Amino acid sequence: MTAANPLLALDYLPALESLGDDYYDIVAAAEFKQHILRFRNNELVRQLGLDPATVSDDHFIEAFGKFQGREPFLALRYHGYQFGEYNPFLGDGRGFLYGQVRGTNGNLYDFGTKGSGTTPYSRGGDGMLTLKGGVREVLASEALHALGVNTSRAFSLVETGEALWRGDEPSPTRSSVLVRFSQSHIRFGTFERLEYLNRPDLIAKLLEHVIDLYYPEARLFTDAQERYLHFYGELCDRVARLAAQWMSVGFCHAVLNTDNMSITGESFDYGPYAFIDRYDPRFTAAYFDYGGRYSYGNQPIICQMNLKALQKPLKLVMPDADLEAVLAPFKDRYEAYYQQRMLQKLGFNNLEPELATALISQTLDLLNAVEVGYHDFFLSLTQQFSPAWGSDVGQIFSATLRASDPAAVPPLEAWRQTYHRCLQSVSPEPIETIASVLQKNNPQTVLLRPEIEAIWEPIAAEDDWQPFHDLLNKIQHPFWGSEA
Ligand code: AMP
Ligand code: MG
Repeated sequence: MTAANPLLALDYLPALESLGDDYYDIVAAAEFKQHILRFRNNELVRQLGLDPATVSDDHFIEAFGKFQGREPFLALRYHGYQFGEYNPFLGDGRGFLYGQVRGTNGNLYDFGTKGSGTTPYSRGGDGMLTLKGGVREVLASEALHALGVNTSRAFSLVETGEALWRGDEPSPTRSSVLVRFSQSHIRFGTFERLEYLNRPDLIAKLLEHVIDLYYPEARLFTDAQERYLHFYGELCDRVARLAAQWMSVGFCHAVLNTDNMSITGESFDYGPYAFIDRYDPRFTAAYFDYGGRYSYGNQPIICQMNLKALQKPLKLVMPDADLEAVLAPFKDRYEAYYQQRMLQKLGFNNLEPELATALISQTLDLLNAVEVGYHDFFLSLTQQFSPAWGSDVGQIFSATLRASDPAAVPPLEAWRQTYHRCLQSVSPEPIETIASVLQKNNPQTVLLRPEIEAIWEPIAAEDDWQPFHDLLNKIQHPFWGSEA
């Protein structure tokens, strides 16, 4: 079957492999007891120029469950700051770079595995991924993508028939192997390792590679220092935008260690993440994050700190560069991106700056004061919005949004008045535009934890995958009129 498998016949490019084995170890995939395809991403199959009808489930299993017909597999070497502590014993401990291919858009993409067996970096771990962990990553990446977050995707999930023991799941628990589709698996921590080893030569080589593939516009700078500086500035901007995307959609990644920060500014590696229910900046998703370091509200500042940490390896190849000056605008860039996305969630593409700032801060005050979920608020706004709100402030949220606590009355009143001013400020633009902006920016279904538990229960109890596929379909088409 190998020769006929369209997934194996793709044009694989040895982009990272050709850098040499300072950056990786060649590893083998585990041989699994069983291979049941649980998810395949036909949208991505199309993006690779293939017709999904010509790619069978067996093709997926051969390539991405049995790992036959391709080599070498590269366990990437990296270190990283985990919860603030430097860890020089990291690296791909349960995954590898399977291969790199071009999409029809011309961009290079990685197939990376998670749960494909042990490597030199497994540190006593079993190299495996639980089925629930795999299901959770599929759901997170598909939901985030649909919400407009720059994220890795899930290409396939194969259940592999092993019995795993985990402290955070009833055990024994089922196993899976995920194939992730991402811009790159090069992390901030990939550079940190090279600094630790004091290898400026390898840092420069990797930087040139990253620039060639992911920051081609930096090539315009013939001077290496200027080129690297441009790369760093662009990365800071991309990360600011990513943090704004997470914050506006109410997503808490939960493990923002530097080894989980992609050098392309893409979001990836979904473990104990959660979408927030109530608006609460202190919300912390990982049960082992005792200090709330990676809380929902800390994400922008943590991203900035991770970008700051990356300066240390960069300094080895650009000792005189003022990297701090390049990072300094991060906060303002983040605020601008966040404001733009929040305005859209409130129905506006544009507002005059003072009004925009007032509306967003009063919205957050209101969300703190009233008993309403973050997503429910925007959903109610979308459902109840009426052009009549523009002429009559008394009609704004008259139906359901009530302040149960007397202390919540002033923020609600303030919000109503400000929202009314915003509506008036956009006329003569048709007020109906607001309804359409609301519908394009506020999801009807959100991947809250209870939704995930609700689809997991029938899988665990009766191997019933229908609720998973139903939920997946809803989160892949979250907006009005975008239903499949
Ligand atoms: P993560 O928290 O998923 O980003 O993983 C942090 C590090 O632990 C990475 O080096 C992983 O490869 C490694 N790791 C996590 N789980 C396992 C496992 N079950 N077996 C081996 N290595 C693991
Ligand atoms: Mg990781």
